[in-house]
Amino acid sequence: MRKPFVAGNWKMNTNSQTSVELVKCIACGSVETAGQSVTVAVCPPFVYLQAVAKALSSSNIAVGAQDIYFESDGAFTGEISASMLKDVGCSYCICGHSERRHIIGESDELINKKVTAAIAGGLLPILCVGELIEEREASQTNKVVTRQVKKGLAGLSVEKLRAVTIAYEPVWAIGTGLTATPEQAQEVHDFIRKLLAEMYDGELAEEIRILYGGSVKPNNAADLMSQKDIDGSLVGGASLKADDFLAIIQAAA
Ligand code: PEP
Repeated sequence: MRKPFVAGNWKMNTNSQTSVELVKCIACGSVETAGQSVTVAVCPPFVYLQAVAKALSSSNIAVGAQDIYFESDGAFTGEISASMLKDVGCSYCICGHSERRHIIGESDELINKKVTAAIAGGLLPILCVGELIEEREASQTNKVVTRQVKKGLAGLSVEKLRAVTIAYEPVWAIGTGLTATPEQAQEVHDFIRKLLAEMYDGELAEEIRILYGGSVKPNNAADLMSQKDIDGSLVGGASLKADDFLAIIQAAA
């Protein structure tokens, strides 16, 4: 059985005070669920990782980074390595979020290097995939997702795949208030699981958690997560409000 997983992506929000206040509220309200019936992680901006990890040290909530660089150290101005993330208390790392693909211009090849480096450095990558609205309208969703999954996971052994969580996040649903219907999301999750079975094997594909992301809110979380292949959620906007994030965790439990 796959344990539900809810992760909050704070993006470029909060400050040194509000980041700590927010996690304290989340930790307080999820004592009975986080780390037990649901895996819970928060992904603050890099500069607040250490303070957030410290505030969460006696909780079962994990900390993740929103990005990583694939080199281990050296002259890479502005970048952050896996060992640095581990050093400040991270266990997860988002790779290939749509804002990095489409605003920053990250390629599948770069994202694959990040996923590979995260695993080599002892982190658990959350690989984000998802189509643009024009790709969905042109019936290209499966093709796009196939390319992103195959290229994102290229070269990973069976053992390494076990470290990976996939997040299906249709780009048209991120931060827009538009959500994929549970049926639309389930269709793509089922497709991704079958793709993993084809690339690896069926048993392993059943173990991999596939999260849905895209305007998940307390009022739609339960319906989405009741779908057979939706194992939780990567939450953006609603993860910045403790009550909303707690309600989503509860919906996953
Ligand atoms: C995200 O940032 O991954 C996301 C899904 O954002 P939102 O929930 O705000 O759509």
